[in-house]
Amino acid sequence: MRGNEEKYQIEAEKLEILSRGRGGILRGCLDGMSYKETIDYYRRINKCTCGGTPKVDEIEIMGDSEITISCQSCGRKLVFTMYDFDKENHLNWRENCLKKWNEGFTDKEYKQIKDEEWERKRLHEEDLTWLPAYPNNMPCNGEEGIYCLIFRNTEYGKIYGCKWTIEYQRKEIQPMTISWDSPIEAYILHKKVYIGIEGPLHYPEPNNKGGNGVYGDDITLNFGDVSDYGDFVRAYKTLEEAKQGALDRCGIQGLNRETMIKI
Ligand SMILES: [Zn+2]
Repeated sequence: MRGNEEKYQIEAEKLEILSRGRGGILRGCLDGMSYKETIDYYRRINKCTCGGTPKVDEIEIMGDSEITISCQSCGRKLVFTMYDFDKENHLNWRENCLKKWNEGFTDKEYKQIKDEEWERKRLHEEDLTWLPAYPNNMPCNGEEGIYCLIFRNTEYGKIYGCKWTIEYQRKEIQPMTISWDSPIEAYILHKKVYIGIEGPLHYPEPNNKGGNGVYGDDITLNFGDVSDYGDFVRAYKTLEEAKQGALDRCGIQGLNRETMIKI
């Protein structure tokens, strides 16, 4: 067996395959694959539409990987990240890249398809429902901002939730003093993520008597947790910009019209 492995290594190292990652530069071996598997992968890559020889480059940075198949003659290339998998056809990003390459795609054409696909499924303003955020969920405390909750299923059968809060920053009438009728000078966007929610997909109804105020529970949406905004994202000058800022950031968290749970 050992002899075979060496034979494959010698063969693979002659191929146009470079892999850069934590272990430095490897020739002829893609991350997580054996030399033999890498050879099999390379053999399935067709010659370029111009007849040129394809070259494979893979790079891994901070856990994110990217593969490039390019032509050494005409320069046609396809760059796929590990998120460019084809869910419908059960192809991982490497296989998807290979398939699109063999179908003759250019990077520009592939990006256009991705853009059109994204345009079809991205969330729009009307998909987000904003509700008033009262300190400790008690309306008598005044409206401190607005929030919205969005959910999706995960691969592990659990529900992932994201809360966007836009906090109103009011002008100080004097240092460290604001009043509720002070004009709003900034709209501050915050994000809190819930992993593995089990309970109802909303906070308890606001009321002035108060309720369970335990913070930091990722499983249920507690009464007082309305006031836990999570992490600061960005400050905006207008409410419209802040809402747009939240909307624009949903995609990175896998929240779109196909994945979102309708409530
Ligand atoms: Zn070519």
